[in-house]
Amino acid sequence: MEYLEDTIAAVSTPPGESGIGVVRLSGPRSLEIAGAIFRSARGDTRLRHSRIHYGYAVDPASGIVIDEVLLLVMKSPHSYTREDVVEIQCHGGTLPLTGILECAIRLGARIAGPGEFTRRAFLNGRIDLLQAEAVIEVIRSRSEKALHLASRQLGGKVSEELAAIRSKVVEILVNVEAPLDFPDEEIPMPPRGELLFSLDRLCDEIGNVIERTSEARVYREGLRCAIVGRPNVGKSSILNALIGHDRAIVTEYPGTTRDSIECWLTIRGIPVTLLDTAGLRDTGDPIEKEGVRKTEEALRASDFAIFVMDRASGLTEGDEEILQTLNDSNLRIIHVMNKCDLDPGGIGLPADIEGAVSVSALTGKGMDDLREALGRSLSSQQERADGCALCSTRHLEVLIRAREALVEAGNAIRQGYPADACLVELKRAQYCFGELFGEDYSAEVLDAIFSEFCIGK
Ligand code: GDP
Repeated sequence: MEYLEDTIAAVSTPPGESGIGVVRLSGPRSLEIAGAIFRSARGDTRLRHSRIHYGYAVDPASGIVIDEVLLLVMKSPHSYTREDVVEIQCHGGTLPLTGILECAIRLGARIAGPGEFTRRAFLNGRIDLLQAEAVIEVIRSRSEKALHLASRQLGGKVSEELAAIRSKVVEILVNVEAPLDFPDEEIPMPPRGELLFSLDRLCDEIGNVIERTSEARVYREGLRCAIVGRPNVGKSSILNALIGHDRAIVTEYPGTTRDSIECWLTIRGIPVTLLDTAGLRDTGDPIEKEGVRKTEEALRASDFAIFVMDRASGLTEGDEEILQTLNDSNLRIIHVMNKCDLDPGGIGLPADIEGAVSVSALTGKGMDDLREALGRSLSSQQERADGCALCSTRHLEVLIRAREALVEAGNAIRQGYPADACLVELKRAQYCFGELFGEDYSAEVLDAIFSEFCIGK
């Protein structure tokens, strides 16, 4: 794996204005480069490990002061990357940050690629790949639960638990391999029954992690909820009332929310993406037709739906049609009767939607009941995502392969094949764990993982 031993630099805080901003340097020349930019206000003559130095960033070419700064020095190996790291804190504006970064580049640093600091932490063995991947999950967490799961992985807890499972795989592997490798020693092959018992138990254990990982994905990725209903029943208004500000444009003309609008909120720790859709109805208007198609698409991509009706206009044929589409979709549906601040009009509710939640998006009445109903429909998803759960699809895919290999190993034994047949599968499972921790990785896999990161992380 290519590892460039140069010194990298990046602005590690997000673009825009903020109280402070940070330029981070990592690599063998970090201290030298930072030292050339920094002028101590207290007469510090050298940059010392684990110290915060106060002073100014000065362009060494012109001698012009760029900003007032704090310099944090972390010498190798006691740093994020295990290399010499200097963080320069200045005011969080574009000019001071780019001014300092440009000086660092002129002095020989290279602009860091996405995730390159974390990549170095991984390549230098400070964290394994699971932990490196958790960094991005911590940054992206949209709910407390997702953050909890990612922190657990970052802290190495998940690696520990998986390492324990892996050592059991290795133990079986050694027991099967030893008699084959050293036939003269007359090491007995473990009895079939014993082998099968251990393999089945391991499959169960990995199966558990797979299950919890799938459940945990709900906390990370959340659930999608389409808000559907005829034009003008108040879908956008309900979405706005749920998220508390005007994200969707509310208009008085039917069919104007032509594109679906997405935004998210957290309900009982689960991030829920709400999709506001244009009215679901047959229409000749080509633009609106596109909206209807998008609604049907949104329904297919949703985990559940909020069906909004208008109490003032009463139920119409349009409502019935949408209801039919919803029923066909087999999604869980929360029925909502909006505009309950107005007098009821038209025909009443059919018996099967009598449990509809009455709300007024306009006055806010009943909105808590709607949140409560949303929470109830999520509670089934909520239960167990504790314990050993991983973050990404990559992990899930590798674990599934590891388990499959162990199942195959068991099958080989059951069918009476010689032990080497089982050995191949055991080695495959072991290899999967290597992939999981990032011991057997390819540059492409690393590129794919770290390209998800932001620059400066
Ligand atoms: P959408 O087409 O289903 O997204 O409907 P909108 O949210 O754009 O609302 C259509 C119209 O109904 C707007 O004029 C809203 O102000 C109005 N409206 C929405 N909710 C309520 C409500 O609870 N009560 C009343 N009286 N009007 C509402």
